[in-house]
Amino acid sequence: MKRIVVLGAGESGTGAAVLAKVKGFDVFVSDMKTIGSNYKALLDQYDISFEEDHPHTEELILNADEVIKSPGIPNNAPMILKINEKNIPVISEIEFAGRYTNAKMICITGSNGKTTTTSLIYHIFKSAGKNVGLAGNIGKSLAHQVATERHDYYIIELSSFQLDNMYNFRADIAVLMNITPDHLDRYDFKMQNYINAKFRITQNQTPNDAFIFWNDDPIIKRELDKHGIKAHLYPFSATKEDHSIAYVDNGEVIIDEPITFNMEQEELALTGQHNLYNSLAAGISANVSGISKEYIRKALADFKGVEHRLEKVASIAGITFINDSKATNVNSCWYALQSMTTKTVLILGGKDKGNDYTEIENLVREKCVGLVYLGLHNEKLHTFFDPMGLPVTDIQTNMKDAVNAAYKMAQKGQTVLLSPCCASFDLFKSYEDRGDQFKVCVRAL
Ligand code: ADP
Repeated sequence: MKRIVVLGAGESGTGAAVLAKVKGFDVFVSDMKTIGSNYKALLDQYDISFEEDHPHTEELILNADEVIKSPGIPNNAPMILKINEKNIPVISEIEFAGRYTNAKMICITGSNGKTTTTSLIYHIFKSAGKNVGLAGNIGKSLAHQVATERHDYYIIELSSFQLDNMYNFRADIAVLMNITPDHLDRYDFKMQNYINAKFRITQNQTPNDAFIFWNDDPIIKRELDKHGIKAHLYPFSATKEDHSIAYVDNGEVIIDEPITFNMEQEELALTGQHNLYNSLAAGISANVSGISKEYIRKALADFKGVEHRLEKVASIAGITFINDSKATNVNSCWYALQSMTTKTVLILGGKDKGNDYTEIENLVREKCVGLVYLGLHNEKLHTFFDPMGLPVTDIQTNMKDAVNAAYKMAQKGQTVLLSPCCASFDLFKSYEDRGDQFKVCVRAL
């Protein structure tokens, strides 16, 4: 019996283990941390042996025929290097699950906009009555669904880490939203390595498949010819140019291929320039899949949005509070600021990932009336933004003080925007925790 070892027992690892077990493999799961009680219960339910809370046991791992690695484990982790030395193949959970389903795979990647676009595509398919599963970075793992459910389509959000260990998987529809620097620490600080990981979404595609991408992205444009893409191309952009097949013309959203589609831009549920791109990518995906225009129009118009992404929380004393806690890099904050229609007090800061704030400098000058730095180490923010002369408050403790400070700075008719540019791990458990605390504090004002 072939032995499969799964490293990491989170959502994707336990899902992969369940699928491997169901498919008759000898399965072993190893996690250096404590495994969550829900995941442990799942492993027990399927009678899967595991270890946790201590370094990986080499003897139980290096005898594997194949290793499934959770996306959180870097490719240069000591255990992975040992596995490589033994020439044991290392694959991702998505690669593994892809072997056991004939469902159509619609895969979304990019530096920003993945979750929004994935959720929007899922919403369109659901609204059209399709038998569809949501997987990847959101919801239940693909492997677990393939093991226990039957779907005709999967809408899959793929991070570059998941793409790293995919080899034979083929996306029927691949969507690449954009490429801006992120996670470079996992790519030897080489941008090209990160770019190559993103383009892996097109590998194995045939002319019958679709590749949907943002045509205005300078990196995608430059790289397009280098990756041997065979899929049919569906470029989209803000305005009609350079072969784009989806764009806005005179206030109308137009998709030219494969079936012509149009709707008023102002009817789109999601606002802001970045969300126009997300809506275009979702609309093309549905159009390519043969979903009829009425369903696409209706779903693009009644989508409720995703929590922690430009989420309107409340209006208090005429001040609007917006939670964009998911803006964990500078580029996503740029889009958030760009979509502000009033003067804004920006709450930013957290765990810096080598940020260069030059990208938002002009927008901060143009839109901001005050800044609240929220983080354990705000020195870099002081150095960059203080010379602009805006009112600044430094908060190194908690969200409540940050919200109070922003409330004091803002005036009626203005907006308080939490769009931190940074990861959350200095003061919060996660970006969700940060956004939840923001909402609680705002509602308690
Ligand atoms: P991801 O899953 O890639 O992190 P999300 O959909 O969760 O992306 O959005 C994260 C943040 O990125 C949002 O808060 C928003 O400010 C910004 N964003 C969303 N879509 C885009 C886009 N198409 N281009 C640039 N920024 C975007």
